[in-house]
Amino acid sequence: MIRQYELIEMVKSYDPDLDEMRLNRAYVFSMKAHGTQTRASGDPYFSHPLEVAGILTAMQLDCDTIVTALLHDTIEDTVATYEQIEELFGADIAKMVDGVTKLSELEYTSETSKQAENFRKFFLAMSDDIRVLLVKLADRLHNMRTLHHIKNSEKRARISRETLDIYAPLAERIGMQELMNELEDLAFPHVYPQAYESIMKRLDYLYLNTDNVRDKVIHDLESIFSKNFLEAEVVGRRKQPYSIWKKITFRNVSLENQADLFAFRVIVDDVEQCYKALGLIHTVWPAVPGLLKDYISMPKPNGYQSIHTVVIGPQRKRIEIQIRSTEMDIIAEKGVAAHWRYKNDASKKDGVHYRWLQDILEILEHTADPEEFLEHTKIAMYQNQVFCFTPKGELINLPIGATVVDFAYAVHTIVGETCVGGKVNGAPAQLKRILANGDQVEILRSEAQKPHASWENFVVTGKAKAAIRRYTRQQQKAEYIALGLEILKHSFKQEEREFNLKAINSAVKKLNLKEADDVFEMVGSGEMSDRAVLEIIFPAIKNKETTASINTIVIDKKRAHKAGDNQLPIKGLSPGLPVYISKCCHPLPGDRIIGIVASGKGIMVHTIDCEALDVYTDAPEVWLDLSWISPEKNQEIFVARIDISLKHETGSLVNILSLIAQDQGNVSNIKLNERSPDNFRIELDLEVRDVKHLTSIIAALRASNYVNSVERAFS
Ligand code: MN
Repeated sequence: MIRQYELIEMVKSYDPDLDEMRLNRAYVFSMKAHGTQTRASGDPYFSHPLEVAGILTAMQLDCDTIVTALLHDTIEDTVATYEQIEELFGADIAKMVDGVTKLSELEYTSETSKQAENFRKFFLAMSDDIRVLLVKLADRLHNMRTLHHIKNSEKRARISRETLDIYAPLAERIGMQELMNELEDLAFPHVYPQAYESIMKRLDYLYLNTDNVRDKVIHDLESIFSKNFLEAEVVGRRKQPYSIWKKITFRNVSLENQADLFAFRVIVDDVEQCYKALGLIHTVWPAVPGLLKDYISMPKPNGYQSIHTVVIGPQRKRIEIQIRSTEMDIIAEKGVAAHWRYKNDASKKDGVHYRWLQDILEILEHTADPEEFLEHTKIAMYQNQVFCFTPKGELINLPIGATVVDFAYAVHTIVGETCVGGKVNGAPAQLKRILANGDQVEILRSEAQKPHASWENFVVTGKAKAAIRRYTRQQQKAEYIALGLEILKHSFKQEEREFNLKAINSAVKKLNLKEADDVFEMVGSGEMSDRAVLEIIFPAIKNKETTASINTIVIDKKRAHKAGDNQLPIKGLSPGLPVYISKCCHPLPGDRIIGIVASGKGIMVHTIDCEALDVYTDAPEVWLDLSWISPEKNQEIFVARIDISLKHETGSLVNILSLIAQDQGNVSNIKLNERSPDNFRIELDLEVRDVKHLTSIIAALRASNYVNSVERAFS
């Protein structure tokens, strides 16, 4: 077990300005918190956070990361609380410890690669401070190093699979090559025991016969370089068994063909010397065409730089050589954090501790290499997503702002359509509740439920939007059909014709439609007038003077007053001047009215509050004081306009039309103004006798369940 003073020395070796007190406090706090707990190995539990801290010192991470490592299991496994840690170590440390705890709580269950990818993204999104992820990776590394103490082989296999699927790719992703290799090799035997055994056997045999080749290659390379005065370090290491196995499995190459049983590495001072070394190697051994890769001019997404070449070496065997500078070597092995230490003298205090964080983020941001195994997108992208769980632990990946309804549709369209509410982390939640990262969501359903058009206002996923719209369109179609049917029945009656399916079917045929509903839909949606349908069915009525079509803009000429009619029951008119009832405000008997004398045209009658009067404010000479003659006895028909906001439900239009008819109103024009998923707004022109008549119709409409509001329209 690492001793307290040893840990301090390790950190001090790369950070002379270390806050020793702080680190000591964390050491003691964690030791006391874990107390007598032990691990599967029988060791005191505290040895684990200590080892994790040790791993992170090897990566030369800052004091806060080391403190977080020491404390990383205290919230989850001991009586220590977030508040305590916040008080003793500050808000930043508390947040990081909490972040590690949250990552630990996630259990990776699915074996599909899609899920693995989601989990990796989730980890990145959760670790908004990359140091949280580094502590988690070091935690996993130590657990893998001590995995053999766990007796249950299934548990070992599960943890190892998780390591291969989630943690090793994440380590690679952030450029921690060494960490990735170790994680993979520790996990390999537990996940693929047979493959591991046969590979190891084969490798033992091959190495027995190739070790002399390795020495020869190293010797030859060294002499080439020294003859040409190039200072270089040459190493030849055995390749990791897992990476060999991956190549055999994914690229289908046999073990004999593996140029890379050994990884030869040439390390020089700078970039220029890398290319010089490459030139020298190629003059001695022929290069295998097509296998030269220059990751110096084109670095990998994780920041990896190196030149890879494959040559035909001694005994005509292929060998792979990597050429890189010392700096590139440190980045490749230890990651960006260590690289920053290398580049910057640690004594230069200025922000050194955090610069490497920016580097790592930049690397994640400015990269795109389609060959990479991992996702090519930047970390910020995952912060536009939320990751939620089904009660069974399945991960659902949604865009930020997604609601309970989005989640339901993401699970299945049927679940979305019958969703009546949800439970988020066990507590009841409304349909439009916005989900947060890590929420566990349970959808409550009812067979009686139907998608509401209004859901479209708050859902954010394309899937939910499309499904709701599709459903709404079907609903709307039903609405038009019902309305069209009503309109046609009405006009048949007015025309004194019998309404029956036979008649409608003749229109279906002539219009080249499929069924009667198509005719109703066309009429209901206003695509075709009821009048036009009647004329198709009964060509004989074509030239006959008729009543107006309900859904076209024609006012019933027989009953409405005529333009220029000066027989209106209005007092105060100048004889001989034509009178017009203005179309802006539709004055009715009972309204207070005003006349405007328009030269050469006649008198326009407006309601006293009509906005059109504003322009005449400075011309009192054109105003005429008018009033209705005994409006209560009026038998003339006037047109009034009303504005209705209606619930967008099946039957709502038909309902209001029948209410109007019951009150002896007649609709002369319908205009659809606005349609929202919830409501629609229509403008109706009504033929009424007077204000009283109109008021009673409005009152009846307001009483309807389908109606949100009704207002008389003055424009
Ligand atoms: Mn741990």
